[in-house]
Amino acid sequence: MSGGRWIDETLHPDIRLSLKADRILYEDGTGHHHLALFENRVFGKVLVLDGAIQVTSADEFAYHEMMAHVPILAHGAVRDVMIVGGGDGGLAEEVLKHPAVERLLQVEIDASVVDFARSHFGDFNAGIFDDPRFKVEIADGAAFVARTSQRFDVILVDSTDPQGPGAVLFTADFYRGLKRCLKPGGVVVTQSGVPFLQMAEFRSAMGNLASVFATAGCYLVTVPTYFGGQMALGWAHDGDAKALQPPAAVLARRAGNLHTRYYTPAVHRAAFALPRFIADALEVA
Ligand code: SAM
Repeated sequence: MSGGRWIDETLHPDIRLSLKADRILYEDGTGHHHLALFENRVFGKVLVLDGAIQVTSADEFAYHEMMAHVPILAHGAVRDVMIVGGGDGGLAEEVLKHPAVERLLQVEIDASVVDFARSHFGDFNAGIFDDPRFKVEIADGAAFVARTSQRFDVILVDSTDPQGPGAVLFTADFYRGLKRCLKPGGVVVTQSGVPFLQMAEFRSAMGNLASVFATAGCYLVTVPTYFGGQMALGWAHDGDAKALQPPAAVLARRAGNLHTRYYTPAVHRAAFALPRFIADALEVA
């Protein structure tokens, strides 16, 4: 334990975000990643893998709500969901808020992330581990997708950035595997970085999605710790380009009494309005 040490996020080569660690809870290798877990007065508990912030207790709701509720409510009849990555459990918590979801399979490469999240992020993930609909498989997501015969209505790729074990989750090969795992009418949503700071990676991932699916694009969410502007969530399916943007009244009816802090039907629809530089990047991707 130590107090008041500054910890840098080293994800970007020319710019760093520094957070003051009031208490360091863990800092070591897991076999797959270097994992740091610490407490910060603004963000609460902060999980960092290989120098990149993954999740904080204070702002996880923004990213997880938008990643789960947009495709689930747009689809309207989701029963089977797969998460690739997402070891902190925040995304699973949002998916399991939908009573119609019958089965959630999470395929996560690093058992230590799940274990640490279970012990330290109970404020948002406590309920998932006792939910009979939820199952975790410890495996590489790309290898799992290549071999499974299971099919899903929604697949969510809550990955690390495209480096280390996460790199494979941004490739066209992986997206072809996801397409094979979708039921008819199924939707994929995938973490696609912060376009302003990660334009090359964003373009590459969007180009790969568009090369595999009939329609692909992205919608946006603002997450304070993913700094540098809005974060893009890539979406893809073989349906109509507007299928993920039903009227707000339809979304509100489907949402029922879903408890959220970021997601609303109006925010859902607005998230598909793209700033020019992001729309242009999609055109050339
Ligand atoms: N929302 C976060 C972000 O945008 O940075 C991601 C959070 S989640 C903790 C990322 C998870 O992806 C990690 O737990 C990591 O172990 C997992 N992961 C990385 N590569 C993977 C792979 N090839 N297969 C399955 N899970 C993977």
